[in-house]
Amino acid sequence: MDLRLREMRLQEERAFLESMARPPAGEAGGDEGDPPNEWSPEEQPPMEETSGRRSWGGAIVPEPLLTDEDWQVPCVPKSPRDASLILEAVKRNQFLRCLGEGQDQPLVESFTPQEFLPGQNVVAEGDDGSAMYIVAEGELRVTQKGRQLRTLLPGDVFGELAVLYNCRRTATVTAVTLVQLWAIDRQAYRTIITQNAKRKRAQVLAGLRGVKPLQGLSDAALSQLLDSAEERTFAPGELIIQEGDEARTFYYILCGQVDVTMNVEGQEKHIRILKGGDHFGELSLIRNIRRTASCRALEEVTCIAVSKEDFQELSPLCVHEAEGTTQETLPDSRRGSPPDGLASPSSPSPSSGAFPPLPPPPLRLQDLQPVHYQEGERQGQPVVLGTGGFGSVELVRSVCTEEGLAERLFALKRLRKDHVVQKRQQEHVLMEKRVLLQSRCPFIVRLFATFRDSRHVYLLLEFCQGGELWAKLREARCFSEPVAVFCSACVVEALDYLHSQGIVYRDLKPENLMLDDKGYVKLVDFGFAKALKRGEKTYSFCGTPEYLAPEILRHEGHDFSVDFWTLGVLVFEMLVGRPPFHSAEPQKIYSKIMDGVFSFPAFVSEAACSLVAKLCRRRPGQRLGNTSSGIRGIRKHRWFSSISWKKLALRQLEAPTTVLLKQGSPYVNFKRFSISRQVPEEDFSGWDQDF
Ligand code: ATP
Ligand code: MG
Repeated sequence: MDLRLREMRLQEERAFLESMARPPAGEAGGDEGDPPNEWSPEEQPPMEETSGRRSWGGAIVPEPLLTDEDWQVPCVPKSPRDASLILEAVKRNQFLRCLGEGQDQPLVESFTPQEFLPGQNVVAEGDDGSAMYIVAEGELRVTQKGRQLRTLLPGDVFGELAVLYNCRRTATVTAVTLVQLWAIDRQAYRTIITQNAKRKRAQVLAGLRGVKPLQGLSDAALSQLLDSAEERTFAPGELIIQEGDEARTFYYILCGQVDVTMNVEGQEKHIRILKGGDHFGELSLIRNIRRTASCRALEEVTCIAVSKEDFQELSPLCVHEAEGTTQETLPDSRRGSPPDGLASPSSPSPSSGAFPPLPPPPLRLQDLQPVHYQEGERQGQPVVLGTGGFGSVELVRSVCTEEGLAERLFALKRLRKDHVVQKRQQEHVLMEKRVLLQSRCPFIVRLFATFRDSRHVYLLLEFCQGGELWAKLREARCFSEPVAVFCSACVVEALDYLHSQGIVYRDLKPENLMLDDKGYVKLVDFGFAKALKRGEKTYSFCGTPEYLAPEILRHEGHDFSVDFWTLGVLVFEMLVGRPPFHSAEPQKIYSKIMDGVFSFPAFVSEAACSLVAKLCRRRPGQRLGNTSSGIRGIRKHRWFSSISWKKLALRQLEAPTTVLLKQGSPYVNFKRFSISRQVPEEDFSGWDQDF
């Protein structure tokens, strides 16, 4: 293509992407452009007060996948020409390319044909997005608020963000001529990618179970080994292992043939050919010797590569011979099953025995009175501490005279049942209740009681008087190291507690951290928490764009280690004032996350950089917190050297965050919100009967 034309095309594409990615008006507001990865403090992006919380929307709620009985993945046979048009379009699209690596083929079959007449809209600005399209024939026009942005021609892709989650369309696409499109919706996309990921993982795990030096390992340990491994591809003729070299890796062949040779008296002697399902490289790792043979790819070969450290740590043979220690000496919190508490094989049903019934609530809804603003514009109105996806959190006072509870302040989280049902979030609300009710940890907000009526469910929570960490971070722009260290240490305590209970949190971010009156940090908002067994994966797509771990974006299945990834993102955001993977365009955020490349401004200490880099490792099994030392590895990191963990747990440390706390009325640390006057629909479906 002519260079000038190409450049014009690229410019058009950029403008288009920007337009498709811009947050809906009045929602996210932080349209601050794309700051360079490396910037000096003078170049900080504007941090204007916005109604929205992040550059791109808020949290992404998990959508349950339809089960097979309700729905079948479409399968439309394609001509070779159509199949290659779809494949090429997906490969050319950088965002899609890194999302579904190696999964193109099964996806191609489930694209369905759609036809539009001239003048018809395919997507309209403001609509909820549920499908992605590839142009097969014809021409389309992209407009935003009436302004023409670009033209789409055969091979072009649009609406791709909708395959990840329910996003609002920010431009209108109209057929100019008669148009043929290939479309795939989110349900089909997610089902295919998830099923493939599950199948592949099960196959590899079954293969690894047959590897002699790994026999005897628990499923959880094997799963851990796989999580720390890399997938590597070798070109035909490429040398994978060289005889005489130091041994660094164990290989398990996924596909392709490998030729094994040995040097016998100066002659290269052929020993055998290995194929998919075979493995090599373990001998020298077990014996701690140099390579005794060479291995060369005969064709394109794909292997699972396990590092020497991971292999030696996990293989029972290596543990005995090389280290002289036994499996029992390895930290158990990561490998063993969680205690018989919250975890169960799958998300337990509301009435499941895993959760003991609620003790009778000490307070009734009618024992609570709203606290009113004492001054200012909203004087006399009830104090609203925060609003969120499903309702609001209000400040209330108990009027009950029962001992210990009289005249106490609480935060009352009120969730609209109609919204919960409409967004199919019943399981998540029930989960929030279950997790909070059973949690006894000073770093997790206490739940005292739950209530329900025809329109709402309520959670009566400990009132965290210091306000949101998010608000404090916006005010301060970034935190000093002592403040960031202290806040992170509180979060480590909360995560350790949750993980020991078999709960993965999945929504760590400053918005979900509150300060109490002493400046200690507490985790709130357990809507995305999930009970999980060690070695088990969960597949729902949820979290907050800038905090999503790469394995969530890829639908590969995720587990406890996503909380360590988000901890790394949180530490970075507290120190720098913005997250490491940041852009006004969601696709760019996701590409950056999947590339895993980020850089630190010069003012961040070396210790902090080291911790973040170790937490934000692409491979879940290599992340600090999820390696052999477990969460102790994080506590022992030098960035935390000033923390006395014992004193912290006993709340005996002086919190450096107290400088952030304002003194005055109980709500002085909160922004003021109006109470919603909208009356929600009644709901009698009964999902909330345990509330
Ligand atoms: P979701 O994220 O599931 O939509 P949500 O955002 O509606 O839930 P929360 O994050 O739990 O609900 O609460 C919303 C806001 O209310 C918080 O960001 C915070 O400002 C305030 N808030 C929540 N819990 C408390 C509490 N225990 N004490 C004081 N303020 C609280
Ligand atoms: Mg929230």
